[in-house]
Amino acid sequence: MSDAPAPDAGVGPTGPRAFEFEHVPETDQSFENALAKARSGERLTVDDGVELLTTGTENREIDRERKELVLEAANRRRADVVGEDVTFVANLNNNVTTACNTGCLFCNFKNSSHAFETESEIDHAGFTKTPAESRAVVEDALDMGIYEVTSVSGLHPGFALDDEHHEILRGYDDAARTVNYKPPERYETDPGTYLEQMDAMSVGDVHLHSMTPEEAYHARRGTDWSYESVYRKLRDAGLDSAPGTAAEILVDEVRDVICPGKIDSQGWVDAMEGAISVGLDVTATIMYGHVENEMHRVMHLKEVRDLQDRTGGITEFVPLSFVHQQTPLYERGVVTGGATDAEDELLIAVSRLFLDNVDNVQSSWVKYGNAKGLKLLNCGANDFMGTILSEEITKRAGGEYGEFRSFDDYVEMLSAIGRPPVERSTDYRTTRRLDPDDGPHGPMLGPRADGTPMLDQQEQKQ
Ligand code: SF4
Repeated sequence: MSDAPAPDAGVGPTGPRAFEFEHVPETDQSFENALAKARSGERLTVDDGVELLTTGTENREIDRERKELVLEAANRRRADVVGEDVTFVANLNNNVTTACNTGCLFCNFKNSSHAFETESEIDHAGFTKTPAESRAVVEDALDMGIYEVTSVSGLHPGFALDDEHHEILRGYDDAARTVNYKPPERYETDPGTYLEQMDAMSVGDVHLHSMTPEEAYHARRGTDWSYESVYRKLRDAGLDSAPGTAAEILVDEVRDVICPGKIDSQGWVDAMEGAISVGLDVTATIMYGHVENEMHRVMHLKEVRDLQDRTGGITEFVPLSFVHQQTPLYERGVVTGGATDAEDELLIAVSRLFLDNVDNVQSSWVKYGNAKGLKLLNCGANDFMGTILSEEITKRAGGEYGEFRSFDDYVEMLSAIGRPPVERSTDYRTTRRLDPDDGPHGPMLGPRADGTPMLDQQEQKQ
C-alpha cells in the first residue's frame, strides 16, 4: 500500500480537490457532446461521464440548468429500461459482529476487536452473535414474512472459514500481526466459522445475501485458496448471493486514503468474479462524497461496467452517499461534510446512463432519507431498497421504527409520486404489484409470507 497523498491545505472545502491525486476530473470532451451521446443511448466513455457529473464546469460549481438536462436524460433511460415500477424487498439485517480492527477511516460501524477479548476491560457497545443466535433472529423474521437476510459484519480476528482454516491460521508465527488472527477462545463470544454462520442463517427458503469481497478475503486470509473455492463452500453452506459492498471507490489512490487496510480494487474485482463463477448473483456499490473527485467516481463506474460485460452477474447497482458524522475522516478534519444534494442526484443519473448493462439502480432511503430518496427515483433509480427490519428494531415495543419501512409506507410514498409499488424477490426474478386501493399490505413472496403487515405480527409476538 502506498502512502496517502498529502493534503493541500486551502484547496476545496470537503476533500475532493484537497488531495494531489494522479486522476483529476479534466477531459477534452464537451458537456454538450456527452449529453447528446447520453440521450441517444450511445455507450459513454469515462470522459463523457465526468462531463455529465461536473456539468462541464471548470470550478466546483454545478450548473443547475445542465444538471436538470442530465437528470431528465437519466429518468428517460430508466423508463426505457425498466418502466415506471419501483421495487422493494422484505428483508432483515442480521450483522454477526461489530468487532473489527481494519480501521477504515469512513466507518462508524465497527468497534475495536481488542475490546471484545475476555481479558479486555474496555467498555464497548458492540456485539458478536453465535450461529445459534443468528438462526433465532432469522427464524423470528421468517414468521413475519421476511425472505431476504442481509448479513455484513466486521472482520473479527477469531472468524475463519472453517476448522481447516483455523488450523492453518493457528500455524502462523505471530498470527495476530501476520494474518490478523486470534483464536476464538480469546473472545467473550465465539462467532463460530463463516460456514457455520451461513448454515445457521439459511433457514427454510430464505435468501441469504452475505459475504462481501472483504469478508471473502478474510475467509481465505493466510491461504492460497481461490475466491472461487471459498465462495463455492459458502454457497454450499447456504449463501445465495453476495453484496458488492467494500467497493467504496475502485481506484487505489483513493482507497489508500480512506481504507488502507482493505483489499485493493483488483482484489474486489477478483472476489466478485469468484462469486459469480459459482453461480451467485452479486450487487455492486459505490461509496462516494468523501475525498474522491468526479474522475474517480466515473473510473469506478467503468470498473463495474467492465465486470458486468465480462460476467453479467450484477443484479443491481447501489450508490451510497458517504455519511460523515462520527467517522475518523470527519473527526480528524480530513473532510468537512458529504456530497451535496446536486451531487447525489447527478451520481444516480450518471450511474443510470453509464451502466448501460445493469438494469437496476437503487435509491437508498437509509442513506438519503425519504424526501431525497423519492426524488432520486426521478433521477434514474428504480429500486427503493427494503424493509431493513433489524434485530434491534424487532426488540423495541412500539417505539420508533426509524430503521424500518413497512409495505404500507412504501405504498403510500410511491403512490404519492405516481409510481407503482412492486414487491420483488432479491434476484428481481419474481415481482408482485401492490394495489394502493387495497390494504393493509404485507409481504407475499416469502416462504412464510401471507400478506400480513410485518409490524402487526411483531406486536402480536410481544
Ligand atoms: S472492514 Fe468494514 S467494519 Fe471494518 S472498519 Fe472497514 S468498513 Fe468498518
